[in-house]
Amino acid sequence: MRPEILFPLFQDAQTLPGIGERMAQALEKRAGRRIVDMCWLLPQGLIDRGYRPQVAQLRGGEVATLKIHIADHKAPRQSHHPYVVLCHDDTGPLDLVFFHARPQYLLAQLPPGETRFVSGKVEFYRDQARMLHPAYIVKPEELEKLPMREAVYPSALGIRPRSLRKAMTEALRLIPVLPEWRDPERLRAHRWMPWHEALMRAHSPQTAADLDPASPARMRLAYDELLANQLALSIVRDHQRKRPGRAFTGGDDLQAKCIASLPWKLTGAQQRAGAEIQADMSSPSPMLRLLQGDVGSGKTIVALLAMLRAVGSGAQAAFMAPMELLARQHHARLQPLCAALGLRADLLIGRSRRREADAVLRAVEHGKTHILVGTHALFQERVRFHDLGLAVIDEQHRFGVHQKLRLSRKGGNDIDMLVMTATPIPRTLTMTLYGDMEVSRLDESPPGRLPIDTRALPLSRIGDVARRLRAAISQGARCFWVCPLVEELEPSLTRPGGKRSAARERCEWLKERFGARVGLAHGRLQGQEKDEVMQAFQRGDLDILVATTVVEVGIDVPEATIMVIEQAEQFGLAQLHQLRGRVGRGRGRSSCLLLYNEPLSDIAARRLRLLRESEDGFFIAEEDLRLRGSGEVLGTRQSGAPEFRLADPLAHQRLLLEARAEADALLAANPELEGEHGAAARTLLYLFERDEAIRYFRSG
Ligand code: ADP
Ligand code: MG
Repeated sequence: MRPEILFPLFQDAQTLPGIGERMAQALEKRAGRRIVDMCWLLPQGLIDRGYRPQVAQLRGGEVATLKIHIADHKAPRQSHHPYVVLCHDDTGPLDLVFFHARPQYLLAQLPPGETRFVSGKVEFYRDQARMLHPAYIVKPEELEKLPMREAVYPSALGIRPRSLRKAMTEALRLIPVLPEWRDPERLRAHRWMPWHEALMRAHSPQTAADLDPASPARMRLAYDELLANQLALSIVRDHQRKRPGRAFTGGDDLQAKCIASLPWKLTGAQQRAGAEIQADMSSPSPMLRLLQGDVGSGKTIVALLAMLRAVGSGAQAAFMAPMELLARQHHARLQPLCAALGLRADLLIGRSRRREADAVLRAVEHGKTHILVGTHALFQERVRFHDLGLAVIDEQHRFGVHQKLRLSRKGGNDIDMLVMTATPIPRTLTMTLYGDMEVSRLDESPPGRLPIDTRALPLSRIGDVARRLRAAISQGARCFWVCPLVEELEPSLTRPGGKRSAARERCEWLKERFGARVGLAHGRLQGQEKDEVMQAFQRGDLDILVATTVVEVGIDVPEATIMVIEQAEQFGLAQLHQLRGRVGRGRGRSSCLLLYNEPLSDIAARRLRLLRESEDGFFIAEEDLRLRGSGEVLGTRQSGAPEFRLADPLAHQRLLLEARAEADALLAANPELEGEHGAAARTLLYLFERDEAIRYFRSG
């Protein structure tokens, strides 16, 4: 059970004064609607109101706090003109400008003849300094009411920054001081502050340095998250080591038949991975193996062979994909191969029709289904296996540790687990990210793949791109067009070059040029709608699929030979590489166009060049890490670990290694997390919602 001290953190944000349903919903979209979700939403900018110049010193665009004398009010002559309050100090005049003003209110706030402090952004209009809607107006004796530094939170759709800031203040008031879970020695060595203090500091930055992921407060918070994660992984691992698994020794004949039926030979890498899996499965301790291989390296067949081993030994196998479309795609591919072997492969997804789903569930329960393919629908209570022996999880980064645990409980004994991922995580990180998972790598592509012609172009050349695209489409090509976000966001305060292209707008733009055979798939579409668009593209009813990164997860369209990525400089390199892997899967020669906004920073240019020069995902990931290690963490986070809210396993690599060491030391000394320190560590697990691991304790 969650410790009582954490209860306030897991309340709904709506229980706070000043937060209504509308704001709670906006928060939910952005970060989650519980107090704890708000805690993890850290400021991304800072407004400094400490600058107190005189009017004559002002420059446009600055945020300033000014002591001014109020001379007069000027009501607008026409309703669309602004209301102006004429002010000055000893050095010159300043206008305060208001649209849709309420004169009564302004006269009370800014009475002529008096003095006030005003704070806001200054601009110049016809050589006249002015301030549009000052953020603060206070009496001289109330100057302390004016916050000198204000945190700027990531814009939560539709929430006024001021309301969000107020809500944050309320939320932070509820945060308890928690017992220290960190090892006191290590804490002293780093001179790190307590968790509560770190959280408060992270939310009230005083200088730009406080916004840096390497600031002491943020490091501590990130560390705690990594520690929780490493603890959970270690607990699961220890537990798994202790329980006897089963030895799967059958299935040789099924495997041999399956391999013989394939139109090609296994690559060396596939054979090696297969042998490693075979060794794990035939030993009595449970398998927990990561199969890492670039897009198109042929992971599916390796997984199938593992499943045949389980099935041939009398057990069932489950194959889980992160999206319905992918589950269907996998099922469609595996089903005929299974049928040829006299095996039954069924599909279970959230949208299966009731009658069909019931029939599948019965077959699964009675052991008639050998291989069950599905989405997280497989986690449901009502899915009961006759005898689950192996679970294969595809594109694991979409699932957290949680789901892995839940799935492992579906087997009577501990089941074997094979996790597949195309995310090229550098070697130095796999161990720490996945705990002690063994790793098999498919580091060799099936033969006959043509290299993908990769080019980087400034966005200003988009007209040329469209012309070339038209020529290619008239020859029957299909094209993915990826944009970073669905809608135009307000220019971000901290990210330079703020404007991001919108998938929707781009889709309109392309429709104007290419007509109706252009479709749009983005993360906010409902599952069914999204699947329909993607299927239309798969069938060839659409020539161009405009998408946010939903295509990243593996949809298979061999006819697609062109990948255009807009604002490529905004993506992580690993993500760009994976997106590029969506093309070059068929026989045609493929190309990838990386469109970027000018000017391109030096490091961004180097990153894009790297992508042009290499198609080796692991090399790219290592190099990316090196470039990022050189100080500049650029663009969006790497995909690969969305289960982290505060930590970036790449940027915080050193912390990750230390967290792992601390977790191991803690569990070695106190394997059941008992006593005072143990209780604190459990609190940490609950705080970061890694508490499923606690059920493994005797006293869980
Ligand atoms: P991944 O899941 O690793 O991205 P897939 O398993 O989907 O890759 O395989 C990509 C394509 O390559 C599939 O069409 C598959 O049939 C084919 N393929 C797999 N292994 C080989 C091989 N050894 N030789 C030739 N083609 C292969
Ligand atoms: Mg795949």
